[in-house]
Amino acid sequence: MSEGKFRHELVGSMSQGAAGNPTVAMIEAAFAHHKLHWRYVNMEVTPEDLGAAVRGARAMGFRGFNCSLPHKVTVIQHLDGLGESAALMGAVNCVVRRGEKFIGENTDGKGFLKSLQEVIDTKGKSVVLFGAGGAARAIAVELGLAGVKRITIVNRSAARGTELVTLLREKLRVESELIVWQGNYAVPAGTDIVINGTSIGLYDANARLALDLNTLKPGMVVADVVFSPVRTALLDDAAKRGCRAVDGLGMLVNQGVVGVQYWTGIDPDTSVMRKALEAALGV
Ligand code: NDP
Repeated sequence: MSEGKFRHELVGSMSQGAAGNPTVAMIEAAFAHHKLHWRYVNMEVTPEDLGAAVRGARAMGFRGFNCSLPHKVTVIQHLDGLGESAALMGAVNCVVRRGEKFIGENTDGKGFLKSLQEVIDTKGKSVVLFGAGGAARAIAVELGLAGVKRITIVNRSAARGTELVTLLREKLRVESELIVWQGNYAVPAGTDIVINGTSIGLYDANARLALDLNTLKPGMVVADVVFSPVRTALLDDAAKRGCRAVDGLGMLVNQGVVGVQYWTGIDPDTSVMRKALEAALGV
């Protein structure tokens, strides 16, 4: 009997109040499909215990971990370094052990970009992005790194919107402006990509963004970060107008794909992961 049979590499997920974390099924499906002796373990960690939990993960030889709210910013002080986009965003959702170091990465925006680039080459494109919270910030930074020409941020709160526009202009040298969201927003002609990066539509298939739907034109790509429901009202409205729709489930799958790539070095089968996630979410 080989000793290796009973030895598992460990990856964790540190979150609070996420007992039903559906990404566990998705990541474990990838490990099983590729016959890796790895386990992905969900752990409830309070903010007070985060430092101890990271030290524990080091002591137990974890290969890395995901972390979600409320740990995405506070985890940084417990790490040894940051990847490029995580440093720009100031937020980490994926930690990777490289040598003896725990390095913080952010796979949210990378997952989104991977989904988007399945339907459009983002280089030189003009983007309208609704929202300036964590998800929108991650997406905007990756779009900037991927060479889009222009990002218009449309956000309800001016303060968060200004912060993101300043980051895009000063750190990424991307043309960017803020539109404070009041009334139905009209998407400017010449826009290539429209993204909902807000939580509008989450768990509500009828919720709509304040948006002049007549300004969505055939050929535009319209993407949503919301993954439950998978088919949001925005994506339905966009498809009816001849736009190409990109759902938030692809983003969630692809952030898992990037995580597995970081931790294990293999390119996991995306369809196996998507199927496992759909089953876990019941969609
Ligand atoms: P945040 O709380 O950080 O940001 C929420 C954003 O939505 C802000 O820009 C906020 O505007 C805006 N917003 C919320 N409600 C309204 C409203 N009624 N009218 C106008 N604007 C509104 O959340 P996150 O960025 O972390 O998450 C946003 C969404 O992204 C969630 O639905 C989440 O599930 C999804 N997500 C999806 C992922 C995926 O893999 N598919 C990964 C990560 C997140 P303001 O600044 O004015 O408050």
